[in-house]
Amino acid sequence: MKLLVDKLLANHTLPDEEMNLLLASDGSVDDYLYEQAQKVRREYYGNDIYIRGLIEMSNYCRNNCYYCGIRASNTEVSRYRLTAEEILSCCEQGYNLGFRTFVLQGGEDMYYIDDVMVDIISGIRNKYPDCAITLSLGERSYDTYKAYFDAGADRYLLRHETADFQHYSQIHPQNLSAENRQRCLYDLKRIGYQVGTGFMVGSPYQKTEHLVKDLNFIAQLQPQMVGIGPFIPHHQTPFAAFPQGSVVLTLRLIAVLRLMLPAVLLPATTALGTLDPCGREKGILAGANVVMPNLSPVSVRKKYQIYDHKICTGDEAAECRFCLQRRIESIGCRIVVDRGDSKLLSKK
Ligand code: SAH
Repeated sequence: MKLLVDKLLANHTLPDEEMNLLLASDGSVDDYLYEQAQKVRREYYGNDIYIRGLIEMSNYCRNNCYYCGIRASNTEVSRYRLTAEEILSCCEQGYNLGFRTFVLQGGEDMYYIDDVMVDIISGIRNKYPDCAITLSLGERSYDTYKAYFDAGADRYLLRHETADFQHYSQIHPQNLSAENRQRCLYDLKRIGYQVGTGFMVGSPYQKTEHLVKDLNFIAQLQPQMVGIGPFIPHHQTPFAAFPQGSVVLTLRLIAVLRLMLPAVLLPATTALGTLDPCGREKGILAGANVVMPNLSPVSVRKKYQIYDHKICTGDEAAECRFCLQRRIESIGCRIVVDRGDSKLLSKK
């Protein structure tokens, strides 16, 4: 197994059968894998950890993904959407706390027609010229993505969810397709966005072969960021009774991604922190270099429940920010006040 890690470190890729073996291994090589991944992270990013302020702008969604708590047919959700003023006030609070990236995430809420979204984006762009604006608003047309980009958005996060078309159709309703999701990712790249993709670990019906395909898809797409987190069941979804994903396998995949794409931005996700009280620290020690604390108003946080038991839903933005700072310093890293672009070309 150790040889496989060395080979991955040297070549940034492994043949499918070998990747399969590494992902399905018993864990005896994990410490060595994390060590190598950390070394690579340090070569590119030193001990710097980037923070992104996550603003959950709406929990209205037109879709019905089987795993997601805010799916359209969940009638138990109390729906909300933030106004432009509320979003700007989250940014202001975030800016004062040292955030230089704002991530606007939400369900596919058609209330925000292009003109409305363009106003919100350009409002943030004018007020915070030194900040990156990241969007995570799901599948849209080329023209809509282009309008957002022209208004000042820099980055877009859209997890491909699973690269296996059949698996995709097992976890989504028929009107959604892996094909369209991937079309969106290539459109975003073509427009000039820095793109983030990713997937859930341990989603229902997922097999190791699917994960190998996910890694191959990512190698082909060459995104600037890859977000992965364990699947966590939500009690009001069709997948309520499925088991949660594995923290250990998520960490192993973070480390593998760091070796595959040395300069990639890798978040230690909230889902990881939800399943393990030290999940985000462990993620960083496995090669992650980004955390995304919540900047949403406390009044709406509990309503953006995409999975059960999500952490930090009662804390003020400042509490989250300083709690994370303590956690990150406890493992020898530091949060930096920086846009945190990917160091694709220049090594530190
Ligand atoms: N509507 C946007 C944002 C989705 S939420 C979009 O379509 O991209 C962001 C991510 O949370 C999703 O891409 C999915 O991978 C993850 N997610 C959703 N439900 C989850 C669950 N039950 N457990 C873990 N992660 C989940």
